[in-house]
Parts: sequence; structure tokens; C-alpha cells
Amino acid sequence: MLHMPLESIIKATGTMTVGRTASWAGCASPSLFGSGQRLLLPRGCAGCDEPDAVLCMRCRNAFLDSQRRALPQSSMRFGYACGRYDGVVRQAILRWKDHGDEECTALFALLLEHLAACIGLLQAWTACGILIVPVPSSARSIRQRGRWHMLGLAKKLVALLRRRGMDASVAPVLYMERRAHKAVQSLDPSERAERARDALRCRDVGTRRGAYDIRRRRVVVLDDIVTTGSTMRRCVHLLRARGFTVLTSLALAYTSRQSVR
Ligand SMILES: [Zn+2]
Repeated sequence: MLHMPLESIIKATGTMTVGRTASWAGCASPSLFGSGQRLLLPRGCAGCDEPDAVLCMRCRNAFLDSQRRALPQSSMRFGYACGRYDGVVRQAILRWKDHGDEECTALFALLLEHLAACIGLLQAWTACGILIVPVPSSARSIRQRGRWHMLGLAKKLVALLRRRGMDASVAPVLYMERRAHKAVQSLDPSERAERARDALRCRDVGTRRGAYDIRRRRVVVLDDIVTTGSTMRRCVHLLRARGFTVLTSLALAYTSRQSVR
């Protein structure tokens, strides 16, 4: 039986980082550890290959190590992540993102919902509409993966927020402009990241029907892995320039390339 109160799990594992965000006690999403996730067997855990689990309990706990980083242009002043990008967290995200393990999508959405609850996002903003804006992938990445993985995750997260009674929607207003330039294979990782950042754009929804309602809502930017945070800051800048109010950002993991403040 997978069901176990979050407090018991914290006590049992001692792996939680609780100092930087609101108390985790009392904010556990019942579905996060409930029997509803005992599905889709047999298979190995995406993080550690333990049999018969999409993500075993030990690996789920690694996603409960909440992190935060300054995000000065956002209303909450910080962005948040479920865990650190190493070990089983890294393994599970890569399996999901690059190796087609789509069964992780629903679980990752639950972990993000849990994070949103624990940082007070749900409680504070239940009254206003929330737009979940996924960080875009390049057309090439989408082609290679056969899906825009962040859009799928955003949709699952929105479904969970709506189940809580929130007025939530996915707004894929960020995109990457296609441009002709040198082949991506010839670039090093930092050059690739810089090029991706430069190609980011935000759609102008100003002339569209219902634009006022869209802008009235608060934006939460959603990404999978945040490294230096420069892409996230760029996304926030672009959204603000289009008139959106950005509340905060959520991610599955932060890398340790920048110290967590
Ligand atoms: Zn595992």
C-alpha cells in the first residue's frame, strides 16, 4: 500500500528541506501518495529502476526537496522547484523528457501541485484566475521528442488545479522563433542555451478577443529544469512586456550551477 501521510514520510526519510518554503505539514496532496498512483504495472521506476513503480517512494521523496531562487520581477519575488537536479531526480526527468516515459507526466504534475500548495500559491491566489505558461521547446526538440513535453505537463497541472476549484488555464503564449543559422550540433551547450534564449518570443494577445480577461489573470511560468535561471528571467521579462502579471515560476528541478538562495 503506497498511501502514507506526508508527515510520516518526512519522519521516516529525513530528506525534506523545509527551511526555505512554507511548512510542508498539512499541505500534502492526498493524491500524491494515494493508491490512485498504483497503476501501469509492470515497469521500472523512472529514477532508480525499482520494479513495479512509475516513480518509487524513495524517488518521489527526492522531488519533495523544495528549492527556491530569487525571481525579482515576479510578484512572489521567488521561483520554486520540487528538487535538485541530480541523482534519481535527474534520471527520472531525463527518462520522461528525452526517452518518452510519458507515464511520469501525471506524477510530475502531482508533485508540482504539491509544491504549489506548499508555497502558498493555491491558498493565496484561489480567487484570481491562474495562467500556467509552459517554457517553450524549439521546433526541432518537439520533432525529435514527438511531443511538447512541457505543454503536456502544464495541461495535467491545470487539470489538478481545477479539481481544487481554481480558475486555471494553460496559456502557451511563449514560443521560439524559427531562424536560419548555424547547425545546432556545432554549438556548445552554453551557446545552445543562449541561442534558445534569444529565440524566445511572447505572443501579443492584445488584439484578440478576451485579451482583457487573459491579462487580468496571474501567470505562473512552468519549466522542467532551471540551470542559471536566465531563460526563466527572459520569459518573465517577455511576459511582463506583453502586459502579463507574473506571480512566480515552478520547475521540477534546479541544477546546482547557481547557488540556491
Ligand atoms: Zn525509484
